[in-house]
Amino acid sequence: METFTYTKATGVQQAITAAGQSQPGAQTKFIAGGTTLLDLMKLNVERPSQLVDINRLPLDQVEKLPDGRLRIGALVRNSDLAHHPAVVSDYSVLSQALLSGASAQLRNMATTGGNLLQRTRCMYFRNDAMACNKRTPGSGCSAIEGDNRTLAILGTSKDCIATNPSDMNVALTALEATIHIQGSRGERDVAIGDFFLVPGNTPHRENVLEPGELITFVTLPAPRAGSKQIYLKMRDRASYEFALSSAAIVAVLNSGKLDFVRVALGGVGTKPWRSLEAERVLHGKTADEKVFHQAAEAALHGAQPQSENAFKVQLAKRCITHALALATA
Ligand SMILES: Cc1cc2nc3c(=O)[nH]c(=O)nc-3n(C[C@H](O)[C@H](O)[C@H](O)COP(=O)(O)OP(=O)(O)OC[C@H]3O[C@@H](n4cnc5c(N)ncnc54)[C@H](O)[C@@H]3O)c2cc1C
Ligand code: SF4
Repeated sequence: METFTYTKATGVQQAITAAGQSQPGAQTKFIAGGTTLLDLMKLNVERPSQLVDINRLPLDQVEKLPDGRLRIGALVRNSDLAHHPAVVSDYSVLSQALLSGASAQLRNMATTGGNLLQRTRCMYFRNDAMACNKRTPGSGCSAIEGDNRTLAILGTSKDCIATNPSDMNVALTALEATIHIQGSRGERDVAIGDFFLVPGNTPHRENVLEPGELITFVTLPAPRAGSKQIYLKMRDRASYEFALSSAAIVAVLNSGKLDFVRVALGGVGTKPWRSLEAERVLHGKTADEKVFHQAAEAALHGAQPQSENAFKVQLAKRCITHALALATA
């Protein structure tokens, strides 16, 4: 491991200023729970020259705002968020997604901001002896002709087919969360649908954050009365495993018809994947198996499987169909 400077910040402005003081070209990283970053530093994949420890920032609260939205601090731990009464009662898809991820010990450390920014589990990204455009731009993609069973079928490019591995991000996408960001040039809010980037020919750019910008909060819209919510995760083993395919559904039924529906997918996209195509098929229709199948077909219409992951097309369709059935039962 290379040497790096380490700053323990106690205020948001101090953290941002510390991050802004790094030398041109030097890489500063904020460290929260460390469950992604430290792993990648040990593997020589992340090589920051400065670490700014943000664990003491006052961003560890979940608050109901006067207009009904829920504000989640970037340092709220995944376990605290999953068990928060407002999340359990009004945003259960988020609670389910968080509890389906990692292990209890990891969830006790992992934070909201860190989970949003966790890196792909593509094995070539994590092995610095292998070519990987995401780790070393222009070096090539070892996965396209290599071991790609767990990788993406939606939003891929000829330069990268890595999946976004987070369960939480899929639920936040279905809930239409907003990410609040602060940097040396001020504050800005970004809808989660605009926050993550597909790889294109710049797979090293995974989101719209600029160097030195800090995620401060995530907000969720006021809860929808009567909404039914499901997070369904399909994986190789029942726990402690990333999704091969997952679906987050938020639905409101009125006399058996889908008045409101949001569909987001995990394990199959290069970013948390909202399926507007599936939503269009479902909106206003009677919630039944036939329309669920049509929605699943629409969601996977543009899928581009690789040599080892064609099974994901069928798996994702079944995942969507089953999740919709559970959400509307
Ligand atoms: C064995 C194992 C199994 C796992 N299984 C799952 C799983 O099934 N599902 C799943 O979803 N996840 C899984 N995870 C991933 C886990 O959820 C993430 O590692 C965790 O959420 C990251 O949070 P953290 O606070 O530890 O992030 P850190 O490691 O501290 O940070 C991650 C990244 O975010 C940046 N960062 C952190 N906070 C901020 C902020 N506020 N503003 C700007 N940048 C910030 C850091 O600089 C770093 O680049 C697993 C991890 C492990 C090790
Ligand atoms: S899929 Fe993406 S992360 Fe994996 S080797 Fe290719 S470029 Fe790297």
